[in-house]
Amino acid sequence: MRKAFVALGSNLGNRHENIETALVALNEVAGLNLICCSKVIETSPFGVTNQPDFLNAVALFYCQLEPLQLLKTCQQIETNLGRIRTRRWGARTIDIDILSIDDLCINITELTLPHPGIAERKFVLKPLTEIAPDWKHPQTGLTAKEMLRQI
Ligand code: ATP
Ligand code: CA
Ligand code: CA
Repeated sequence: MRKAFVALGSNLGNRHENIETALVALNEVAGLNLICCSKVIETSPFGVTNQPDFLNAVALFYCQLEPLQLLKTCQQIETNLGRIRTRRWGARTIDIDILSIDDLCINITELTLPHPGIAERKFVLKPLTEIAPDWKHPQTGLTAKEMLRQI
């Protein structure tokens, strides 16, 4: 069965509860089963810096959904949790990004896999390294802990 890494972030409302609720909701979807989740860390906003600090975590799921189904599922849960889409990198109750699904490399408008931001984002690499230090980026061959060391 495929394994999917998912990054969660929240900087509006009850941030801990938002991440917890999103994890529970993902795990309740048929075809998604939570394997483990990192600790939740607090981070400064990336890109658009005049907004509240984020809580971030990375979770690993067994995934029987097709990639675009998983994307739609994540977006539906974001909407259910009250996310209002404003600007990219803006404040949000919850952001659910797919980091990778096995070694799939996808590059279409709606979905890029692996997520293109992984190598430059400490708030992703830190929790990812906690749960999967030896996960290898399928395009660069670098592991999570190597990428973390490089930023
Ligand atoms: P970033 O993707 O740089 O972290 P963001 O999370 O703020 O920015 P969003 O507004 O949440 O960006 O999403 C913008 C679009 O990104 C979505 O409509 C979605 O189709 C697309 N997208 C592409 N690849 C992915 C991915 N791996 N996971 C989630 N969304 C993705
Ligand atoms: Ca994001
Ligand atoms: Ca997103």
